[in-house]
Amino acid sequence: SRPAPEHGEASGTSAGEVPERLTRFDAHPGYQQLTMMREAARRLGLTDPFFRCHQGNAGATSRIDDRDVINFASYNYLGFSGDPRVNQAAIDAVQHYGSSVSASRIVSGERPIHGELERAIADTYQVDDAVVFVSGHATNVSTLGYLLGPGDLILHDEYIHNSALVGAQLSGARRMGFAHNDADALEDLLHRHRPQFERVVIVIEGLYSMDGDLPDLPRFVEIKRRHQAWLMVDEAHSFGVLGRNGRGLREHFDVPPEAVDIWMGTMSKTLAGCGGYIAGCQALVDTLRHLAPGFLYSVGMPAQVAAPSLKALALMHEEPQRVRRLQAISRYFLEQARALGLDTGESIGAAVVPVIIGSSARAAGLSHALFERGINVQPILHPAVPEKSARLRFFLSCEHTEQQVDQTLEILDEELTRT
Ligand code: PMP
Repeated sequence: SRPAPEHGEASGTSAGEVPERLTRFDAHPGYQQLTMMREAARRLGLTDPFFRCHQGNAGATSRIDDRDVINFASYNYLGFSGDPRVNQAAIDAVQHYGSSVSASRIVSGERPIHGELERAIADTYQVDDAVVFVSGHATNVSTLGYLLGPGDLILHDEYIHNSALVGAQLSGARRMGFAHNDADALEDLLHRHRPQFERVVIVIEGLYSMDGDLPDLPRFVEIKRRHQAWLMVDEAHSFGVLGRNGRGLREHFDVPPEAVDIWMGTMSKTLAGCGGYIAGCQALVDTLRHLAPGFLYSVGMPAQVAAPSLKALALMHEEPQRVRRLQAISRYFLEQARALGLDTGESIGAAVVPVIIGSSARAAGLSHALFERGINVQPILHPAVPEKSARLRFFLSCEHTEQQVDQTLEILDEELTRT
């Protein structure tokens, strides 16, 4: 065997042979792309629309740059972030448990509040059990990354969130995307490829956050059954938003709980907290709880993060009028926008309504102009979406008023005619 090369020896990796661009962060392709984007924004006279800093709680209104603005850029769908009862739950929890559980739950990080939150989530879905992770993104990465492996197949909607894509890559399984919401395209992939693979999982979302549209769940359930695949639904944006009582896509379509094998969701939107969950049968949840790396090798959720989500979930059940109010104001936004002739794509008018502008520069310019006039709405630019569907994306909350919607659309209409 060869001895390890000494420092500086001609090993093929000694410092003299490595081009400088490979050692500098400012030569990294990501940094170069960022610099180009900043330069383009500067030439157009736009301020950077990203990392806008909210100085307090972000609800239907928010304080940014010392000004109160109407806010359509946060996912506080049921207005629970900032609710005094939810705040109090966090305060009580931090006082009782301290600010960190200081270890993975499997060693010494377990606290009663974890089990209470997981029970409440499982009961809401009417499934055996649930497990919560400290991040929504990590939930998808770890779940897909752990459950699937080489020899398996992951089929996903082309608009699936980055966290599911990263999980799919990590798993080592084959990954194939199908056209957005196109169950026929999925079926075609299954016909062609199902026999060559062992486990197959189909990954879709309950409500797509770029477009505000949803999948035909009964159709996907029927297909997955026929092809003996698992179905995973990411409810980050549908939980608390769809269904008469906010129970999500399942309630919207009235399918039985076991129709979906893996229910995934986040605590960061409707549930006024942070983290993600998987809900399903006991064997699934036990496996993840004991083996999924993002759970096992990561600290348990802090109690003051778990407690507000538990409280928000209880309040969602006690106050379903919040869900109905969110649904009504979202529909109102959609109808008024369409009446003005705006392109709202396929949005069904549930919490997420895009206004498609068709050019990144124009969408960024409009976001800037609206912000100057007291409205905070995020532009979604290429490459996050194709250039021709660059857009402004409006997130509604049950706390938005019709007057705020009217004022916003009037200003948007004026700015659209001006630019
Ligand atoms: N899934 C979807 C569909 C999302 O939109 C997001 C983030 N917005 C996540 C997962 C990740 O969740 P979190 O931000 O709570 O980590």
